[in-house]
Amino acid sequence: MTPISYRLPQQRNLVTSLPGPRSAALTTRRKAAVAAGVGSSVPVYVADADGGVIVDVDGNSLIDLGSGIAVTSVGASHPAVAAAVAEQAAHFTHTCFMVTPYEGYVRVAEELAALTPGQHDKRTVLFNSGAEAVENAIKVARLATGKTAVVAFDHAYHGRTNLTMALTAKSMPYKANFGPFAPEVYRMPMSYPYRDEAGLTGEQAAQRVISRMEAQIGADSLAAIIIEPVQGEGGFIVPAPGFLGTLAEWARQREVVFIADEVQTGFARTGAWFASEHEDIVPDIITMAKGIAGGMPLAAITGRADLLDEVHPGGLGGTYGGNPVACAAALATLDVMRELDLPARAREIEAAVMPKLHALAAETGVIGDVRGRGAMIAIELVRPGTSEPDPVLTKAVAAEALSRGVVLLTCGTYGNVIRLLPPLVISDELLADGLSVLADVLREQTR
Ligand SMILES: *Cc1c(COP(=O)(O)O)cnc(C)c1O
Repeated sequence: MTPISYRLPQQRNLVTSLPGPRSAALTTRRKAAVAAGVGSSVPVYVADADGGVIVDVDGNSLIDLGSGIAVTSVGASHPAVAAAVAEQAAHFTHTCFMVTPYEGYVRVAEELAALTPGQHDKRTVLFNSGAEAVENAIKVARLATGKTAVVAFDHAYHGRTNLTMALTAKSMPYKANFGPFAPEVYRMPMSYPYRDEAGLTGEQAAQRVISRMEAQIGADSLAAIIIEPVQGEGGFIVPAPGFLGTLAEWARQREVVFIADEVQTGFARTGAWFASEHEDIVPDIITMAKGIAGGMPLAAITGRADLLDEVHPGGLGGTYGGNPVACAAALATLDVMRELDLPARAREIEAAVMPKLHALAAETGVIGDVRGRGAMIAIELVRPGTSEPDPVLTKAVAAEALSRGVVLLTCGTYGNVIRLLPPLVISDELLADGLSVLADVLREQTR
C-alpha cells in the first residue's frame, strides 16, 4: 500500500476495562435522553478516530474492524476530507440544490457517471441516506416502466423507511411491529452457496427465481429487481457465479429495471469500485451511500439516462440532498481512493485475511463458511459438525474481542456471522493484531 501518515498512533491500547468510567457515565445520561430503539453495538463513546483506530473518551485505543458499517473506508478523519469539509463550510453549508444550485453536486454526478459500470449515458440524483437512494431508485423504475411490482431477496437489507422495510427481509429488529408495509414487494430466494443444496449453480438458482417471478408476478407487472451484489446485513452472502448475470439478462429482455444496491459494497470495498464489476453486471440503476463521502452523509442513484430523465422536474430531490459540504467530502474521498488505489488495497486485505480465517476454520471447527470479497469478509459460526447457526457464540466472540480492544460487527439473518469491514487505510500491523485477537478469542471460546 502507498505509505500513509497517520495522526494518531496506530496501536491497540487499553488503559481501562471496557466500557471505562466516562463511557459508562455517558451510557447513563443516554438512557435518560436517547430513545431506547436506537441501539449501539459497542457501549464505548468516541473522542477521536484516525486510520484503523478509534480512541474513546477514557483514552482507550480500539482497533476498528467495522468502519462505522463500511463508511470510513479512507479513515474517519482523513486530512484531505477534513480540509475539503472546512473549506466548503467556510463558504456555504447549504443553499438547496433545488433552489440555487452549485458545482459540487454536478461534479459528484460527473464522477459517478465515470466510475459506475457501463459506458452508456447516465444521470445521477443525490440524497442523504442509503434508504432514501433505494426509495428513489424504485420511484424511478415504477414511473419509467409504468409497472408497480418490485422483487427483493431473502436476507436482503435495504433500509428502515417504510418502503425499504418492506424490501428488507429480516423481521427482528428491522420490521417487527412497524407495519403495515408498502405493497407490491415480492420476495425471492437468494443464491446462498453455503446453505443451498449442494451443486446448485448460479444459473440454476437464477432460473428458480425466474420461474417464480414469471408464475407469481409476470414481467408485465414487474418494475424492478433490487439486489445487493454481495449482501450486507443479511450475512455477507456472495451469490454463486452466474446468478446476478442471469437475472440481469432476464430483466434486460423484459424491460424490468435491474437495480444493484451497492450502498455497502460500493467505493472500493470489495476490491473493485463496485461489486457488480466482479460479475460483469451493468445495472440499470445503482444505489450508493456509505463509503462515498468519508463519513459525511451522502447517497446517490446513478442510472440509465433514458430512465432517470423520464421523471418530471420536481419529482425527485429533497432539501438536503447533495448538500455542498457532503459533496466536497465525496470529491476529496474519491481523490484519496484513486491516489491510494484503494480497490487494490481491498484486494490486499482479502489476500491477507482469507488464509488466516481458513486456517482458523480448520482449527476450531465452528466456522461453517468463510466468504466475501475484498475488505468485506465474513465467517459464519455454526455448531461443530453441523450447519446449525450459533448466534450465542457469535455474540460472545464480538463481546470478548471488544473487551480486548477490537471492534467487530456481527450480521446475518441468523445472527451468526462476524463481518470484517476494516477501513481500507488500516495498516497491515493493526489488521494483523485485530485478527490475532479474533483468533485467540475464538480458540478460547471453543476450547
Ligand atoms: C446500509 C444499507 C442501506 C441503508 O442505508 P442507510 O444510509 O442506513 O439508510 C441500504 N442498502 C444497503 C445494502 C445497506 O447496506
